[in-house]
Amino acid sequence: NKQVVLKNYATGFVKDSDFIIKTDSTMSLKVPESSSKGVLVKNFYLSCDPYLSFLLQKSDSSLEAQFSRFSLGSTINGFGVAKVVDSRHPKFEKGDLVWGITGWEEYSLIAEPDSLFKIEHTDVPLSHYTGLLGMPGLTAYGGLFEVCNPKKGEKVFVSAASGAVGQLVGQFAKLTGCHVVGSAGSREKVDLLKNKLGFDDAFNYKEEQGLDAALKRYFPEGIDIYFENVGGKMLDAVLLNMRMHGRIAVCGLISQYNLEKPEGLYNVASILFKRLRVEGFAVFDYLHLYPKFLDLVLPQIRAKKITYVEDIAEGLENGPAALVGLFSGRNVGKQVVLVARE
Ligand code: NDP
Repeated sequence: NKQVVLKNYATGFVKDSDFIIKTDSTMSLKVPESSSKGVLVKNFYLSCDPYLSFLLQKSDSSLEAQFSRFSLGSTINGFGVAKVVDSRHPKFEKGDLVWGITGWEEYSLIAEPDSLFKIEHTDVPLSHYTGLLGMPGLTAYGGLFEVCNPKKGEKVFVSAASGAVGQLVGQFAKLTGCHVVGSAGSREKVDLLKNKLGFDDAFNYKEEQGLDAALKRYFPEGIDIYFENVGGKMLDAVLLNMRMHGRIAVCGLISQYNLEKPEGLYNVASILFKRLRVEGFAVFDYLHLYPKFLDLVLPQIRAKKITYVEDIAEGLENGPAALVGLFSGRNVGKQVVLVARE
């Protein structure tokens, strides 16, 4: 059983050398009889998500109340898609396809499968359960509809717009009749946003002389809704360009996660003067909405009204590099690791 194991705690940016690939040749492909509700799964796809970088650090993190940090020598875990090979749990049987928390390894023995969900709809690519139909999809849905309450005709700005969450936020906002502009870190990503993902416009923030000027060019009348994925200088420039009573959903601040000292914000007075609502949220707040989310999204996927771009790294041994790549923008679309073909 090949596994991705934490070798060193990450300091600052996570690196490939923080991990090693190990093989455990003693693993049995049966759930031990002593387990009353364990399942053994064969992993197909693993999801690279920015939150994993918090769990790889030694230092205390505010996320620790929600997740447990990885310990040295342990196998990394995260969201993935798998098939049940053996089960002693009444809810799962051999052959079931599942998504949820699993190990970064070929086979995982999951003693308490409370975070595994049975996959009921298999007429869509199974990899989508790491993104479009999984945690990032629900994040986009909850953050946009529950936090921002978008209305037809409103102007929406999305940062990290071609990523796992951003590409869906833009498409959901378009389905609502909004005008949507995204920012991303390369020409290829900007081209995707404009020509494949249906954004009205997009720009490469790395090529702009000033973010304030860029936002004024794309939003001459201001922004009603900002879906925040990056933080830092982008958030500061956005504050200057929000309209009265605008809403900002703070989903993530990826530009700040690995900095020793987070960047300062200078334009906070805009929140006061423009009566903005700035609200952070976590996807876990919206788990109860998953069935409603599927009702919206599955027909749209089947009717080809929603597109989803995935970047699939082949082979478990390429998992660490794929995860590291999130923090330099190497991924184009949702970063997935293919462990085994279905
Ligand atoms: P993505 O698929 O968008 O991958 C990360 C992207 O972030 C990179 O491709 C890169 O895109 C961009 N990025 C990386 N470093 C920087 C930087 N220094 N400055 C600006 N952009 C940067 O990731 P996700 O869609 O999975 O996640 C997006 C955000 O949502 C993250 O902040 C994440 O933490 C957050 N999140 C929050 C959740 C919640 O419950 N609140 C749940 C899931 C995600 P580019 O090339 O465009 O710069």
